[in-house]
Amino acid sequence: MVADFRSDTLTKPSRGMLDAMLNAEVGDDVWESDPTVKELESKTATLFGMRAALFCPSGTMANQIAIRLFTQPQDEVICDSQSHIYHYESAGPASNSGVALKLIQSQRGIIDARQIEKSINPKDVHFPPSRLVVLENTCNKGGGYSYELDNIREISELCTSRSLSLHMDGARAFNAIVSKGYSSEQLGSHLDSISICLSKGLGCPVGTVLVIKDPELLFKAKRIRKAFGGGMRQSGYLAAAGIYALENNIERLTEDHENAKTLWKGLKEYGLSKEAPEPETNILIFTPGSKWNREELIKELERLGVLSVPMGDDHIRLVTHLDVGTSHIDYALKCFKSLS
Ligand SMILES: *Cc1c(COP(=O)(O)O)cnc(C)c1O
Repeated sequence: MVADFRSDTLTKPSRGMLDAMLNAEVGDDVWESDPTVKELESKTATLFGMRAALFCPSGTMANQIAIRLFTQPQDEVICDSQSHIYHYESAGPASNSGVALKLIQSQRGIIDARQIEKSINPKDVHFPPSRLVVLENTCNKGGGYSYELDNIREISELCTSRSLSLHMDGARAFNAIVSKGYSSEQLGSHLDSISICLSKGLGCPVGTVLVIKDPELLFKAKRIRKAFGGGMRQSGYLAAAGIYALENNIERLTEDHENAKTLWKGLKEYGLSKEAPEPETNILIFTPGSKWNREELIKELERLGVLSVPMGDDHIRLVTHLDVGTSHIDYALKCFKSLS
């Protein structure tokens, strides 16, 4: 058996999703004539209480479009030091938008209004104007922890009072939503935009929706997407997978969260982990127990068919998702036991 915990991007479309894709009505979306893309966009916008949305090829592109949308060259974007936009988007903010990033140190990737307020630059030619705040919810590198709604509300109020825009990298926003129990509409009410990955826990092959509060910005966002090479043609086949995922794969994310907790308990019980805070959602990051060298542990697990990835200097990451069921979890626990 192979229990693949390397990433929730590895999920493959289910039979039901493939059927939905096969039956999609499509057109040319650059010509604005693909009804299925339009349906996905309006459905996602409505979920977040917003009025505009744009289907993008990837989460990276959606974040990069948002940054370009709300900034000008020489501006500064405030974000957590563990952010995806900083670590994993190939200096996109610098090359696509000409902006600087101001990094805030945090526990678990969650920052607050006080920290943000302190990092807003004064009006002075030496400093880039602070223009945009990006929050990552849940934060991947932080270990999959999510924001409290009150924290987001305070940050949103600060942004409004200081004329900053607020974008959320919501690649795993639905993991946060089912974990914390707030609604997508409540979350959206505090944001200017949010990117929602369909190709992670929601199980689609491709795609992210960028949801935008101000419908007047949609044309500009579309133009940026075009310039980035992200205008797609019969993308309704992919959008159909997205619609299917929004209808079928959200509530079940709680199973992934339970599975991650079960793995966490097993690692602890069998002495494979040293430091590992309890996971909240579907990401489990841990330091190997004292008898293990990290690379050896990853290799031993791989030999048994339990796949993980290294993260940072000394951590290992396991991610639960749609394509790992209880049989995989039981098998992983057996393997952990055999290594104890
Ligand atoms: C995966 C991910 C993205 C986008 O990744 P793509 O591979 O470009 O779709 C953005 N932010 C976070 C936090 C992610 O985990």
